[in-house]
This record gives sequence, C-alpha cells and structure tokens, in this order.
Amino acid sequence: MSVYARFGVATVINAAGTVTRLSGGQMHPEVLAAMRDAAGACVDMVALQGGASRVIARVTGAEAGIVTGGASAALLLGAAACLAGLDPARMNRLPEVPDGRNEFIIVRSQRNMYDRALSVAGGRIVEVGIADRYSGSGVRDAAPWEIEAAITPRTAAICYLAQAQSRPSLAEVASVAHAHAIPVLVDAAAQLPPKDNLRRFLAEGADLVAFSGGKAIGGPQASGLLAGRADLVASALMQMLDLDLFADTWNPPDEFARLRQLRGLPQHGIGRSCKVGKEEIVGLLVALERFVAMDDDARQANWRGILQAIVAAANGTSLQLTIVDRPMPLLEVRAPDATALAARLAAHDAPIHCSLGRREENVLVISPSALTAAQGAVIGAALRAI
Ligand SMILES: *Cc1c(COP(=O)(O)O)cnc(C)c1O
Repeated sequence: MSVYARFGVATVINAAGTVTRLSGGQMHPEVLAAMRDAAGACVDMVALQGGASRVIARVTGAEAGIVTGGASAALLLGAAACLAGLDPARMNRLPEVPDGRNEFIIVRSQRNMYDRALSVAGGRIVEVGIADRYSGSGVRDAAPWEIEAAITPRTAAICYLAQAQSRPSLAEVASVAHAHAIPVLVDAAAQLPPKDNLRRFLAEGADLVAFSGGKAIGGPQASGLLAGRADLVASALMQMLDLDLFADTWNPPDEFARLRQLRGLPQHGIGRSCKVGKEEIVGLLVALERFVAMDDDARQANWRGILQAIVAAANGTSLQLTIVDRPMPLLEVRAPDATALAARLAAHDAPIHCSLGRREENVLVISPSALTAAQGAVIGAALRAI
C-alpha cells in the first residue's frame, strides 16, 4: 500500500509536466536514496551549503551557489541580497528599505506572477517599455535605452525573465546594468534543458540566476538553486539561515568566507521562511550531477520514447495525436472538446491530468517530464477507450 493510500489520498498520473500543483515529477531511485541517507544524520547547515556551493559553482561556472526551497525562494533570496548586500543592519530591516533603494526594474512584457517574490523581499517593481509586438499594434518591445533611463539612485537591480521571446537580450540588459554598477537577477526557473543553460545566463552577464530543482533537473519538488556573484550569494544564504547563535561562536565555511567580515550578525532574515531541508539540499545536488552527466539528446530520446508509448497504446483512436518538439517533446491531442476530454481523463480509474493551456484551440497537451513509460501505456489505452 502506498503511503498516500495510508493517508486516504489518491495518486494521479501527471501528464501536465512537473507542475507544482501536481507535486512535480518522480525522482530517480539514486536521488531518493541520497535523501534517505541525508535524513539519517545531522550536519551544520552552513557547511552543507558550502558543499552545495562547490557543486553549483562547478556545473554553472558561477563564483558561488546555494540550494533553495524552489526557484521562487531563490528569487526572493536573490532580491533580498540585492536590497541588503552584506550589511547586517539592512538585512535586519527587510522588507523595509529605509533609504528607498528598493526598485527592481523589469521590462513590462516580462512581468509574471513569480515576480511577487521581489515585492515580498521589500522590492518595488518599476515597469519599463511598451510591448507593441504583443498587442499586435507594432513590432517593438522595450529598448536598452529605456531600461537605462529608468535607473536612479533608488534602483536595486534589474530583473530579467529568461525566455526565448524576452527582449532586449540578456547581454544588452547586463551591459546597461553593469555600466551603472547594478546587478541583474535572472529568473531561469524552467529554462532547462538544454543543460548549457546552467552556464549560459551567467556567461551572458547575469549576476544571479534562479533555477527550479523540481522541474527538468529531477530534484525534490521543493528545491531550487541560486547561483552567481559570491557576495550576493553569501548575502542570500545569510538571510535564509537560522541565526539563533552568538557571532563569536559562528564560523562559516571557506566558500562563504566573506561572511566572517560582517560588522555583526543579523537575526533571522526575510528568507527564514524559505527554509530548505538537508534532504532537499542533498537530493538536489545528486539530481543536478545526474542531470549534467546525461546527454541532452539521450534525455530528449527518453521523453520521446514515453510519448511514442502513448501513441502506440492509443492505436486506433479517432483523436489526432502529434508529437512536437518545443523544445521538449510534447504530445498534442486534438479533440472535438479538449476540456471535456480532460475531464474524462481525470475521471479515469488512475486519474490522468493533462495541460489545458491550449484548450481554446481544443488541444490537450501531454508532457512526458513527470511520466514513466508504463504510465504512458495507461494514458494511451485510456485515449483509445475514450
Ligand atoms: C516554475 C517557475 C517558477 C517557480 O519555481 P519553483 O521551483 O516552483 O519555486 C518561477 N518562475 C518561473 C518562470 C517558473 O516557470
């Protein structure tokens, strides 16, 4: 009997991708074993984040990194780092920023609900640009000069959403920011694979970049990582830690040696509610090593194989099934009424949840990222039966 059954909760077949509301994906046994090992012993959490920093620096090319409780937590902590730096007095005041240097500039067309993490830390969002290319009334989006014109002594950072359609380019935004000694904080939560993206945004000028650990990396659902400039990562870490201790008894590891130079020890920071457990930290690190060790082509082939298992098991269905690469392989199911089809799949003995993101076109989208091949066969059979 599964542990979920013990608590009276049904499991689902998650064909919607590694979305948070459906509990992310399924972890590899090696990651599970690492988490179990981690749970069976105690460690100093700063030392553990020091170990995490070495792994993250190696795979991203960043100066430093920490494991967080998700990409959203990484954004909140990264924003707190941009607001407070290594000043314990500023850390203690967040989300208040007494001198008003609390503005995060973001291109209007890149606004999204995850940028709330910046406001939670104490930031104020300043939108820039009019995206004519989205409204259909023109071809332009924000230009680098418009971002530059919004920079004032109140600017804490520029935030950037890493997406293929984001404009201006990250390199252009970083060059404007760095000309004014302002950091760039990048939300790249779902920008993996390709695995090169672990390095790409930092190479293009990001000072901090946030990735989700529970999406393609295959780590614990509630994990993420923040990588970048050593001083900012150290500040972010400081604002998440349990600091109920005396300064003269605290000795952070060499990876965060600059924390030894603070003029005092702040108390629990704005990020204290972003607590990440030792199990998540270890699980994310093992998943990250597995993710970078795997070839992108092999990963794509695995995913495509799961979708092909669905198509094979659905043989004979009147629904139109198409495998597309966007860039992850996805299965599009064209139905007379996609919303009704989704309801029937969700009512299946083993409830099947798909993405309704394209319901207006009557297309259900099936993602392989949280599926096994065996579950693919169940989905195919269900489609055929319907
Ligand atoms: C998924 C996602 C997040 C949140 O990631 P979590 O790891 O669930 O906190 C943030 N930003 C974007 C763009 C995302 O796609």
